[in-house]
Amino acid sequence: MKALVYHGPRDVSVDEVPDPRIETPRDAIVKIITTNICGSDLHMYEGRTDMEPGRILGHENFGEVIETGDAVERIQVGDIVSVPFNVACGTCKNCNAGLTNYCIRANDYPRLAGGAYGFADMGPWEGGQAEFLRVPWADFNCCKMPEDGREKQNDYVMCADIFPTGYHATEMAGLRPGESVVIMGAGPVGLMAALSAVVKNASKIMVVDRHPDRLALAEQIGAIPIDDSKVSPVERVLELTGGEGADRGCECVGYQAHDPQGHEHPDDTLNKLVESVRFTGGIGVVGVFIPEDPGGPDDLAKQGRVPLEYGLHWFKGQTIGSGQCPVKRYDRYLRNLIHTGKAEPSYILSHELPLREAPDAYAHFDKREPGWTKVTLKP
Ligand code: NAD
Ligand code: ZN
Ligand code: ZN
Repeated sequence: MKALVYHGPRDVSVDEVPDPRIETPRDAIVKIITTNICGSDLHMYEGRTDMEPGRILGHENFGEVIETGDAVERIQVGDIVSVPFNVACGTCKNCNAGLTNYCIRANDYPRLAGGAYGFADMGPWEGGQAEFLRVPWADFNCCKMPEDGREKQNDYVMCADIFPTGYHATEMAGLRPGESVVIMGAGPVGLMAALSAVVKNASKIMVVDRHPDRLALAEQIGAIPIDDSKVSPVERVLELTGGEGADRGCECVGYQAHDPQGHEHPDDTLNKLVESVRFTGGIGVVGVFIPEDPGGPDDLAKQGRVPLEYGLHWFKGQTIGSGQCPVKRYDRYLRNLIHTGKAEPSYILSHELPLREAPDAYAHFDKREPGWTKVTLKP
């Protein structure tokens, strides 16, 4: 089959590789209908995270089940499914607690927990920017789509990662109807957090970035855009909330090795939230903090050390939640909102391209070129 193969930093190509096959009775093979490029792929693409050359990228996958192992019961050949980016066994102690993002059987536990397709440090699972994908523990790791699956593929594919991830940011922040929220970053994840805040009936949604086209998308769904190249985001949020600060804050940026938009300190988003969220408010961090020189692949403790205004955070009695999204906790509900027309996450999609154009698309997306907000690939 054809697949997008990682060779090294900023070096990917569409190569001919062996088809995946059923390896355990619990596996399924999914023929990919559409698969997204994600901001998280850039951690590998830019070389911040060590990745073995030869791996296939792609963790936002959507397709048709074409083969199942003998022990697969619920999922059937012909089903159209979105595939949560977390690879999870469904039966370990963390999966039982709903923490599929920290499955202990999908990775080298206790050194590492949680699996993902096509990802460094997230287990051996190959990615889906390819014609076919092997899905382990398939009964658990497939979310079956309704009859409009193909028709709304560009919406449903967002259920594999960024829509649930944006939603998770608002959940960890504790966002409830009628509350205000400030979202750092208007990338795909920030825009999905904004959509989640709309779905949750937030009273005021403020989105910070300096990318005019991304801010325009936030405005399109009713959020207040804050261009931090023109105003201080902290001052603007305080102004918009009568001096009190936002009830909730979502961090949807993470560590950015270089920021083409020219943020001088791209890693100070957390402190801006500590300053602009009210006393006893909540902050949800889904942005990934992996710096350029993490101190070697085995030194997780040194990864992503960023200065935090802990004193102010403590004084204000705020809460912070962080980590990967447990997609399975949300994807069927978000799927239902798409099915009934109550949410349309494809509003952020800028490009639908054939798989063969993936290397080019990576280069554009990596530079955050105007107009390149979100790319989906059609093998
Ligand atoms: P992205 O890089 O396309 O978007 C980030 C946006 O933040 C850009 O528009 C950029 O202009 C903006 N930005 C940079 N510095 C800023 C600053 N100081 N203040 C405000 N805005 C700033 O990426 P994305 O796809 O939206 O993903 C965002 C983050 O979420 C990444 O770190 C990604 O790895 C992470 N992510 C986490 C999960 C999870 O499960 N926790 C899942 C998916 C993605
Ligand atoms: Zn992703
Ligand atoms: Zn598990």
